[in-house]
Amino acid sequence: MYTVHKLADYSPTALDAAVRELLSALESESRAVNDESAWKDYRDRWVARKNGILTQINDAWLKAAPPDAKREVGKRVNSVREEVEHAFSLLRSDLERKIISESVTLVGGTLDEIRDWELKREGVDISLPGIRRPIGAEHPVIKAQNEMVAVFKSMGYSVSEGPEIETDYYNFEALNFPPNHPARDTQDTLFIAGQQSKPLRERLLLRTHTSPVQIRTMERLAPPIRVVIPGKVHRNDAPDASHSPMFHQIEGLAVDINITFCDLKGTLDHAMKAFFGSSVKTRFQPSFFPFTEPSAEVAISCIFCGGKGCRTCKQGGWIELLGCGMVDPNVFEFVRDNGYDPAKVSGFAFGMGADRIALLKYGVDDIQLFFQGDVRFLEQFA
Ligand SMILES: [Zn+2]
Repeated sequence: MYTVHKLADYSPTALDAAVRELLSALESESRAVNDESAWKDYRDRWVARKNGILTQINDAWLKAAPPDAKREVGKRVNSVREEVEHAFSLLRSDLERKIISESVTLVGGTLDEIRDWELKREGVDISLPGIRRPIGAEHPVIKAQNEMVAVFKSMGYSVSEGPEIETDYYNFEALNFPPNHPARDTQDTLFIAGQQSKPLRERLLLRTHTSPVQIRTMERLAPPIRVVIPGKVHRNDAPDASHSPMFHQIEGLAVDINITFCDLKGTLDHAMKAFFGSSVKTRFQPSFFPFTEPSAEVAISCIFCGGKGCRTCKQGGWIELLGCGMVDPNVFEFVRDNGYDPAKVSGFAFGMGADRIALLKYGVDDIQLFFQGDVRFLEQFA
């Protein structure tokens, strides 16, 4: 068996002879490797870090060489290393092929059987049941939101979306909440920190309603428009059964010539019947919003008691659901250059809480359940 000797002669001829002797030993030893354990022995003998032949020649040949011979010896030690590594990879793939071909004779030999055999060799038992990953489903709020959006899409509305981080301009100013307007002072806006050095209209906040998308849409599209705007909004509300600091709104906007309050009433009445059922009635009561004039609160007849009075409608027979109104001419002034001359066009806008719709639709009595992420609760709606 080959052993590494110290070199006595560092001439190129003597070095080449030493390399030849080593490589022929490598080759004859590799021919004898025919199973996994022989391969491991062979590997340990040649490349083991501690006392493998590669390490030995590094010590006995290269480290022991006189300085003027180191360059020539180094070249040969490197080429030996490459040869050994090459021989190893060849041997490894030969061996794997051999093991597989043995398995073919062993199990009969279809491709599937070979694959199964290989999996077993790797310790994978394919007869065990797999890991079942549950298929995801729409969150109940998103599901209700999409259903309501679909009602408006069927009336010819397109869908518009906007950023959740808004500027003061889009969230308030362009919606006719001037600076110092009392509606801004309700302490419910979550502002982004460190904005004090900017002019007020450029300061960033988490949008408190989806209404900024009305302005963004009117900046982008000239009239006539009909858009429905679903989205997430944020307010500094303490969480309870009916409040969440994050919730969802569905907003709508229609602008054209000769749009009247009748169009608004007809549209919302149809939408509520399409969503909750044809027996639902709607009721409009005067209200106030800075960006609509006149404005109204819309209630639907209670879907649980049909208007007779029950716990959900607090015995009143009606459930408040939407805010709406005719777009305030002051709002059109902000987008007048894009064709929104308040003397020529009119429009209506409305907004509702998607979470509230989902609460009603699914008969859930606590909005917090929607956002706690308990799969046992959520999977009921899948
Ligand atoms: Zn009721």
